[in-house]
Amino acid sequence: MKKFGFITVFVGLMLLLAACGGDDASGGSGDEVAKDALIGVAMPTKSSQRWVDDGNNMVEQLEALGFETDLQYAEDDVDTQVEQIENMIVKGADVLVIASIDGTALTNVLEEAAAQDIPVIAYDRLIMESEHVTYYATFDNFKVGVLQASYLEEALDLPNEEGPFNMELFAGSPDDNNAYFFWDGAMSVLEPYIDEGKLVVQSGQTNFEQGATMRWDGNTAKSRMENILSSAYSGDEKVDAVLSPYDGISRGVIQALKGVGYGSDDLPLPIISGQDAELASIKSIIAGEQTQTVFKDTRDLAASAVEMTEAVLRGEEAEVNDTESYDNGVTVVPTFLVEPVSVDIDNYQEIVIDSGYYSEDELE
Ligand code: BGC
Repeated sequence: MKKFGFITVFVGLMLLLAACGGDDASGGSGDEVAKDALIGVAMPTKSSQRWVDDGNNMVEQLEALGFETDLQYAEDDVDTQVEQIENMIVKGADVLVIASIDGTALTNVLEEAAAQDIPVIAYDRLIMESEHVTYYATFDNFKVGVLQASYLEEALDLPNEEGPFNMELFAGSPDDNNAYFFWDGAMSVLEPYIDEGKLVVQSGQTNFEQGATMRWDGNTAKSRMENILSSAYSGDEKVDAVLSPYDGISRGVIQALKGVGYGSDDLPLPIISGQDAELASIKSIIAGEQTQTVFKDTRDLAASAVEMTEAVLRGEEAEVNDTESYDNGVTVVPTFLVEPVSVDIDNYQEIVIDSGYYSEDELE
């Protein structure tokens, strides 16, 4: 707290001096580095709302500091993203902030960036197999999985109930390093119950590869759930819970479940987790369909990436809080982890509305 207080006062003083036109006093601060710096921001896709928010937040915060920005979306096409990054390098970007589509596909283009001495900040998703990743700004990805699984654990009261309960497991995209962290976090909670037989995965699909959902695609998840329902739940068995790592997947799974009659008094929908607090999923939670999601405040993630951007431009060190967890196969990337928050019907108002993330109107 003490440190925080000091930083607040310090930052406040700096802002005051800057506002008074104190050029000398700002020596080497944002004003100076911002003059003609161009920041390339490469985002994966507009098809998921969180990335739209991420891109908007980045541009807003960078432009407020006087930076120029080049924001690009690649609609989940790896070659397009590589081309976009190449264009940013050609345009003379001073820093690249990249949320990768396939974390392993950027090794060559990062070599090109390094040849021009352009620092690279991995945004949300770790860029793998490259020594040229200066910093990584993300959320505590293992904790995201723990929050999802703990919610299911509590909702089924697994420590006290005898069960057995039926649960199906979905994982994220195998080309996204985060997906393994979410899975490992969730399994750290669920595995003992599966081993003990209190949780039964009727499909028998209990490993990451079997549960994986390429590019986090909701329709892919819907089809997989339909197959599981017709092959493993044709008798009296019903699904009690679904581990879903992302809201788009949760909504796909819910569609499949409704397609075979879930969502009625006789056959209620299972408890189902999610991630990102997408508007459509908050609405689904309010409608009593999806049960939980994990809110990741993209304003805070952008703030961390912007702070890293300023630091590398000044040749200073950025604030990190994890120097061990994120090994990209070549190097352990210094990371700042932002805290994720579990959201359900009881706290969505406080977490996503009262915090100003969404307005009441958007939920109508
Ligand atoms: C992000 C999640 C998101 C998922 C799908 C992951 O890399 O960390 O927040 O749900 O991608 O877009």
